Amino acid sequence: MTNKQYHAETLSVRAGSEATEYGENSEALFLNSSFRFKSAAQAAARFGGQEPGNIYSRFTNPTVTMFQNKLAALEGAEQCVATSSGMSAILACVMGLCIAGDHIVASRSIFGTSVQLFSNIMARWGLLVTYVSLTDPAEWQAAVTPKTKLFFAETPSNPLTEVCDIAALANIAHKADAHLVVDNCFCTPAIQRPLDLGADIIIHSATKYIDGQGRCLGGAVLGSKVLMEPVYGFLRSAGVTMSAFNAWVFLKGLETLHVRMEAHACKALALATWLEKQPQVARVFYPGLASHPQHTLALKQQTSGGGIVSFEVKQKAGQTQQQAAWALIDATALISITANLGDAKSTITHPATTTHSRVSAEARAMAGIQDNLVRIAVGLEHVDDLIADLSLLAK
Ligand SMILES: *Cc1c(COP(=O)(O)O)cnc(C)c1O
Repeated sequence: MTNKQYHAETLSVRAGSEATEYGENSEALFLNSSFRFKSAAQAAARFGGQEPGNIYSRFTNPTVTMFQNKLAALEGAEQCVATSSGMSAILACVMGLCIAGDHIVASRSIFGTSVQLFSNIMARWGLLVTYVSLTDPAEWQAAVTPKTKLFFAETPSNPLTEVCDIAALANIAHKADAHLVVDNCFCTPAIQRPLDLGADIIIHSATKYIDGQGRCLGGAVLGSKVLMEPVYGFLRSAGVTMSAFNAWVFLKGLETLHVRMEAHACKALALATWLEKQPQVARVFYPGLASHPQHTLALKQQTSGGGIVSFEVKQKAGQTQQQAAWALIDATALISITANLGDAKSTITHPATTTHSRVSAEARAMAGIQDNLVRIAVGLEHVDDLIADLSLLAK
């Protein structure tokens, strides 16, 4: 099927799907590690690349290929490389495109584990990273060195939902002969398509909204064929491969991506609007609110504010910031206390002591992540039930 003529919702359901000779209407799960050849000559042609086709599931598998083609169609990317997790997507991207001595400019507010990967692991292999403010293009410009290969941004950021100007950062990166990588995990292509705005590479943790129901780990790197070739080369040798089973789950997840993201965003906006009015809430962070510092930019880049809402809880007398946040979290009965997001089940997290606990207190303070900050990834429950679960805030 040619993708151009169809709307995004249709691509979600139809793109990438291919039936076998049995004509199954739902994608088949190829749970096999290797593929047979008709002859030694065919095996040689497959290994030599003269004949297209599957060899071994570490590097190609029909179910994984269908997932890759569907996600590529949704992001408007030439190629998608599916990986075992979001973190291995970032690893494959950096290992594929950088060499020792190369430099990355990254936003200070990227996913905590991404910071660990860059600063504690990749640094041992000679990669240099400079962290800058997500929202200040001048800082990105100032950080550029002759060795800068990648700009790495996440928008909206976790957990403060800061939004960067993707086109502006792409411009600066391209003038420096660097590529802009955008972690599009919070939005998914249902809300934001970074390549259309000038980004070169997209990272996904499929674990989140692409799955949508908290079942499987997976990730993806997307971009042009030229940029994805070395990323795929790394995956083929290093084996950070997406399992066929997980790809099959994600294929089903992508079919409902648009309706789910619309519902998450609609409920998140209602919850954020309610939170802003509560006496026990000091501040709400949600790109869909007019009070959000980059609200106008967010509405330009995104079709909605997404499903993540963060807020600062006011301390009661004698409480520390952390105690105030923990008291609210512990008073919930419905919302799951877990750090995951993108699930049908709403989740509540205290970033300072979970997702961002390995970040130093100074770095957290610099990023603006206070001890009274709580993040909710709004699921698909009725919003009134979520509000009732946070009743401590109304008191
Ligand atoms: C979860 C997450 C990752 C890492 O993905 P895993 O699938 O857990 O490895 C990367 N970036 C963002 C923004 C995330 O939320």
